Amino acid sequence: MKVKCPTCKKRIKWKDNPYRPFCSERCKLIDLGAWASGEYKIEGKLEDELEQILSESEKEQKKEKDND
Ligand SMILES: [Zn+2]
Repeated sequence: MKVKCPTCKKRIKWKDNPYRPFCSERCKLIDLGAWASGEYKIEGKLEDELEQILSESEKEQKKEKDND
């Protein structure tokens, strides 16, 4: 079975490939870097999560104020 590396589109063997679905560690890291820099997005999921985290931390701050 052969697959295409998502990063460089090179055809690679699936079997015995520790970096699959990538051809190499380099391509794997490039792809992970793309995720981290926000090149990929999963239908606004990340933004929803961020909003939730922000509103949670706002609540926490309010709590702290109320305790004064
Ligand atoms: Zn590659």
